[in-house]
Amino acid sequence: MIVYKGKGVYGAVAIGRVSVFKRQAAAVRRTVIEDTAAELARIETAKQKAVEQLTAIYEKALKEVGEANAEIFEIHIMMLDDEDYNDSIKSIIETQKVNAEYAVAVTSDNFADMFAAMDDAYMQARSADVKDISNRLIACLSGGGSGGGLSDDKAIICADDLAPSETVSLDKDKVLAFVTAYGSSNSHTAILARNMNIAAVIGAGSEFLEGIRDGDMMIVDGHTGEIFVDPDEETMARLEAKQAEDIRKKQLLQELKGKENVTLDGRSVKIYANIGGVGGIGAVLANDAGGIGLFRSEFLYLESEDYPTEEQQFAAYKKVLESMAGKKVIIRTLDIGADKQIGYFGLDKEENPALGFRAIRICLTRPGIFKTQLRALFRASAFGNLGIMFPMITSVPEVEKCLEMCAEVKRELTGEGIAFNENTEIGIMIETPAAAVISDKLAPMVDFFSVGTNDLTQYTLACDRQNAKLEAFVDTHHEAVLRLIEMSAKNAHENGAWIGICGELAADLTLTETFLRMGIDELSVSAPFVLPLREKVRSIDLSK
Ligand code: PEP
Ligand code: MG
Repeated sequence: MIVYKGKGVYGAVAIGRVSVFKRQAAAVRRTVIEDTAAELARIETAKQKAVEQLTAIYEKALKEVGEANAEIFEIHIMMLDDEDYNDSIKSIIETQKVNAEYAVAVTSDNFADMFAAMDDAYMQARSADVKDISNRLIACLSGGGSGGGLSDDKAIICADDLAPSETVSLDKDKVLAFVTAYGSSNSHTAILARNMNIAAVIGAGSEFLEGIRDGDMMIVDGHTGEIFVDPDEETMARLEAKQAEDIRKKQLLQELKGKENVTLDGRSVKIYANIGGVGGIGAVLANDAGGIGLFRSEFLYLESEDYPTEEQQFAAYKKVLESMAGKKVIIRTLDIGADKQIGYFGLDKEENPALGFRAIRICLTRPGIFKTQLRALFRASAFGNLGIMFPMITSVPEVEKCLEMCAEVKRELTGEGIAFNENTEIGIMIETPAAAVISDKLAPMVDFFSVGTNDLTQYTLACDRQNAKLEAFVDTHHEAVLRLIEMSAKNAHENGAWIGICGELAADLTLTETFLRMGIDELSVSAPFVLPLREKVRSIDLSK
């Protein structure tokens, strides 16, 4: 038996035979050509074919892994149209008089190297995307298909790395697990694997790839990141038992549907879910969440090619509120900037985007955009139980300005005879240390707080949340972060506000009891974490 270790990105156990992922990347030859115009025409035809394939992959991803995760394939379609990328291909064909495949391959290498050399982790990750779209383009030029081949039997897919499009294109019914030699836990592939509910381990190392063959017997433990090749009897029995336990737990979780989120000593807590768009509602309902604790409304803007109109936004918010049938829906106003950039906003490039012009700072500077969103939100409030929440708050005047804008919008709607819910709850995110420290001043101004632990951790520990190199320095249980949350909870309650947590930490079951003891009223998590969190809450006894 040989044991390899990587990083588990989805906690499940898979047992089966290896299928080494075979890419159809044909070796690209350099051929001198006469007719450059014909070569340029071939590129155009191949691009059309690539867009068709990517559109089909996008549709598949939309169904299997949701809108926010499918978005990468829209980005791929846009990248195929990138001016610099296309100019480079054209210029290589024309100046060197070479075949299209070769021009794409050279452009791909140059652009991938350029992205890989950038400081920004997000831009570095784009290197894999350029290679992915270029390989597709080359395959289309050579009349090839769109990805790697799989055998007919269910298997554990092992690869050097999987591009997002390759991950989604795999037939889920034939995949027992994924193991890759490289890749980071923040990569789109890891996120997709998590959403596909398939055991997955990444970063198993180059020896892993050299050591395995098609047909090898393998066990993948996505909980620990361990991979066992040719497992001995004892390991097989132990992991089979672990797998059976996983399945039993999943079934047990189903029995928790419809049950209350109440501790053994009778304290109840609200468990809500986070969504990025209207497409997330299905998972929220399937996992029996009590409401939506965070609707990241910026995805409406990210999916659009221009500012979404009041009508478009109203239709989306109304749909979510109606589908949730009276359950609480907290919609966060636009939070772009930093890692979420949108071309049509025309924002300047910044030295420190996470500390820059983002979220509420943009809304307060561009009141037209803010007002359009607030009008759509208040109009939608007549169709359900809406809460409106403002991101990235750091001061009292910011909240005052938000409230003034709400009052102005309400006055306008009243004047126009348009219905809205006068009692719509207004809240703010506590995601900067400043907001937590002055939470005694902010709480009397609003109905609720929601702690964004992702940003609160980034700003408190001075660790860029996008930078994979800092993983070792980020203590997600850091006392400073926990104290800020506790302080905010105390100040909320002393001033008549309620408090929830909607950052990733809300799903950390090792902290559930700590949060309940702080008096947190609501936890909002990704939909698959709702039932495990309910199970955890029901096992806690706060009287002890
Ligand atoms: C957070 O910062 O914790 C949060 C929930 O917001 P986002 O992850 O969208 O920045
Ligand atoms: Mg945030």
